[in-house]
Amino acid sequence: MTEIPEDHPRQESLLTRHRIEEGVEKGITSRQGLIAEGRGEAFDYLLGERTLPSADDAARAAAAHLLLADRPVLSVNGNVAALVPGEIVELAEAVEADIEVNLFNRTDERMRAIADHLREHGAESVKGLAADARIPGLDHERAKVDADGIHAADVVVVPLEDGDRAEALAEMGKTEIVIDLNPLSRSARSAAVPIVDNILRAVPNVTEHARDLRDADEAALERIVAEFDPEDALREAERAIRQGDLE
Ligand code: ATP
Repeated sequence: MTEIPEDHPRQESLLTRHRIEEGVEKGITSRQGLIAEGRGEAFDYLLGERTLPSADDAARAAAAHLLLADRPVLSVNGNVAALVPGEIVELAEAVEADIEVNLFNRTDERMRAIADHLREHGAESVKGLAADARIPGLDHERAKVDADGIHAADVVVVPLEDGDRAEALAEMGKTEIVIDLNPLSRSARSAAVPIVDNILRAVPNVTEHARDLRDADEAALERIVAEFDPEDALREAERAIRQGDLE
């Protein structure tokens, strides 16, 4: 890899690009993943590459949901695996969630490569390979999930998810936490908790909130959940993108 100087103004986004490229080379990320990365980067640029206070509130509400959940699951696709494999494992440990690989462009090879990659980053068990249940309302390949994973989950974290699947999961009655830099995407709009932030910042932030809330009682967690308004979070993000001044 060419060294990127630390003071390069786009250092963070160049590193991100490089990780996605590496993901493609390793067979973890699909080529469409490169396009998703480009879309995300544009939104992040307009947000000033920072976590908005409203996104931080969303991360705290997400942590509260995950701590209250009976069966939380973190869904991982090719971009997520390339960008934050270790951070996903840490979040799973902090909230006692399962990790499930769930791909838009599913191939057995890529499923296995991602599961291995997550294990190399400390995951003890990775779901998604059994594919013995289906999400209703989606075509065969896109609907595949594990019966004891996403299918049975009450709270699901779906970062960088395609809109159809996010909507179908919400229709199954699951509490959906979406991480997506586009506040107008259908995924963000179907979420109980949309975190409009770069996944690189959002996942460690949810983990930090979960650690902070570890000893909170149920009533306090319920209060955080009740006080969070997804519409406000989306509005704030859209406002920042449309009107924000880049410092
Ligand atoms: P929808 O069907 O919901 O409109 P889409 O088809 O636009 O989704 P994709 O093109 O697959 O979705 O892109 C995935 C989404 O992930 C985009 O909205 C993009 O902004 C977002 N995204 C990409 N990279 C990141 C990242 N690093 N952190 C957070 N979000 C990201």
